[in-house]
Amino acid sequence: MSAKDYYEKDFYSELGVPKTASAAEIKKAYRKLARDLHPDKNPGNTQAEEKFKAVSEAYDVLSDDAKRKEYDEARDLLASGAFRGFGGGAGPGGGGNPFGGGAGGINLDDLLRNAGGGAGGGGAGGFSDIFSGLFNRGGGAGGATGNPRASRARKGSDLETEVRISFTDAVNGVSVPLNLTERGTCPTCHGVGAKPGTSPRTCPICQGTGLTTRNQGSFAFSEPCANCHGTGSIIDDPCPTCHGERTVLTTRRLTTRIPAGVSDGQRIRLAGKGEPGPGGGPAGDLYVVVHVTAHDLFGRSGDNLTLTVPVTFPELALGTDLQVPTLSGSVRLRVPAGTASGRKFRVKGAGVTRKATTGDLIVTVEVQVPQRLSAEAKKALEEFAAASTADPRPGITAALADRGSGGAS
Ligand SMILES: [Zn+2]
Ligand SMILES: [Zn+2]
Repeated sequence: MSAKDYYEKDFYSELGVPKTASAAEIKKAYRKLARDLHPDKNPGNTQAEEKFKAVSEAYDVLSDDAKRKEYDEARDLLASGAFRGFGGGAGPGGGGNPFGGGAGGINLDDLLRNAGGGAGGGGAGGFSDIFSGLFNRGGGAGGATGNPRASRARKGSDLETEVRISFTDAVNGVSVPLNLTERGTCPTCHGVGAKPGTSPRTCPICQGTGLTTRNQGSFAFSEPCANCHGTGSIIDDPCPTCHGERTVLTTRRLTTRIPAGVSDGQRIRLAGKGEPGPGGGPAGDLYVVVHVTAHDLFGRSGDNLTLTVPVTFPELALGTDLQVPTLSGSVRLRVPAGTASGRKFRVKGAGVTRKATTGDLIVTVEVQVPQRLSAEAKKALEEFAAASTADPRPGITAALADRGSGGAS
């Protein structure tokens, strides 16, 4: 990582959040972007992959309180115009006078040299800590400052992935394989970026600062070194695996148990299954969002299963025994004579078992009115109609009588 990378990148706009965003807002924005841009979802789309990397990098910094503070401070300093030069590149701070402190101002070049040199500990004080903290994040040699200080151990990033399982598996629980794509240190060069056996050399033009100074009239401008693109080092033989990028997208495969009773859209947290922590820190967490495919017959309402059973009018009027499927087999359901259409029956314990509780199966009986009738059935129904004298809607009949219903007799 170099000075140029940090002062030019706006990690907040990368994630589409304001600078005042809370940790939760940042996490939410990142999750959404990571989901949309995930390489599994955008195979062969290099633009999405680049954006995915950029978003991951932004989240890596902004999700860590200490790193975020350093980043904010560094950008505030750069934008404040406290430094001489820097062309127009100070970023969205904008308003600062690019010619800043004039003769008395602090020169960022000096600051960076102090930060990296190791020899000049006293000089810039707190500032050098800020910059050395930022610029050494890449770990390994060849950073802009060359500071040998080991990177601090940090918690790895959280990851999120999605899985789709069947209705039955959601009820019973299931083991699923997960393929995780993540950004990790290149295993070939161990994050150095150079071909094994070679090492990056300090850029001879900028002496490793990543910046060059150009004089224009009485002003001096600092700008990113064109020779090394602001990285401060030259890689003559790039690592064949990461092409000098220092990190690679890797696929990790793991199997996880989805517990019984999970519902559609539920997010499961797998502690310690996220990205490994840089510098030997603890791994982040993995979140698995579970999508459950609908069942042909059964529905779900919490821990209860639901099932609608079509019946005939005679079955409800005369009563019947119904054979009703459950998820694991079937049960006999006694429907008494005179049962109303739409009545619900409860089959105890035939629902979803989750931890210590088991739901029920709720069976709704619903009259199916035949669309076609055989001549025989029609005749029987007409005889039934003639024989049944009870009024099915006495309340309505009474209301109509009260109105003295003008029309029909
Ligand atoms: Zn250079
Ligand atoms: Zn590599």
